[in-house]
Amino acid sequence: RGGQAERVIPFAQPGNLTRVIAVASGKGGVGKSSVTVNLALALVRQGLHVGILDADIYGHSIPDLLGLGDARPTVVDDMIMPVPALDGLKVISVGMLKPSRDQVVAWRGPILDRALTQLLADVYWGDLDYLLLDLPPGTGDVPMSLGQKIPSSEVLVVTTPQQAASEVAERAGTMAHIMEQRVIGVVENMSWLETVCPHCHEPHRMELFGAGGGVLVAEALTDRFGYDVPLLAQVPFDEALLAGGDRGEPIVASAPDHPAAQALVELGRIV
Ligand code: ADP
Repeated sequence: RGGQAERVIPFAQPGNLTRVIAVASGKGGVGKSSVTVNLALALVRQGLHVGILDADIYGHSIPDLLGLGDARPTVVDDMIMPVPALDGLKVISVGMLKPSRDQVVAWRGPILDRALTQLLADVYWGDLDYLLLDLPPGTGDVPMSLGQKIPSSEVLVVTTPQQAASEVAERAGTMAHIMEQRVIGVVENMSWLETVCPHCHEPHRMELFGAGGGVLVAEALTDRFGYDVPLLAQVPFDEALLAGGDRGEPIVASAPDHPAAQALVELGRIV
């Protein structure tokens, strides 16, 4: 295959029918990858064809969250075949380009850029309704590069309710706007823990990480961009989500009746 210039990214071509949604956050650990896999499964459950491109060079946790272990893509006729996951979901991770699991990805801008092009252009995605991209946290090379390669890609911002988290999330949203991508909304994760009041025994929402971060980001971005950036979902803190992540069984599939799973299924209906 030739150089970078000859590579065609199908999602950037006129007439492309795949919605490319990048899931972004200001910092790590807010649940961006968990939201990505569960949203993907929520969409699959609507009968849609969905792929995940894990471009989080620092985290690349998508394969583990889906229980894919060390699965590697196969190559057929120069095309990379994505790894099949639960329910026909297709997955490619930047971690799958590493020679071995324990290697660290220490790539600089230009190499990252080439890797992203490869994952977008050389992977045989087939006809997808949605491609979800798990971006590295922050406003670095990969989010910028994606905006350049696929200007029609949209961005979903994930934050926690904490004020400090919302400030950095706002910056990630603003970067997308500078790259002329549309920010479709905000997801607040770990919004509260559903519990029972020890005194009155009524259901009680314990705000573990503060409150209001999601609304704050949505309002700030709406003010700044001049179009509506809604708060699309609030996902409670859920032990089952955490455990499901560790086991490689996302909550939307393993415990769909949990409020956290329901919030993510609903998110799939409105994105
Ligand atoms: P990020 O991609 O932003 O770094 P992850 O999705 O990897 O974040 O989540 C970080 C950790 O928090 C993981 O262990 C994950 O299972 C856990 N986690 C994420 N969202 C929730 C939630 N709503 N309830 C409980 N644990 C969560």
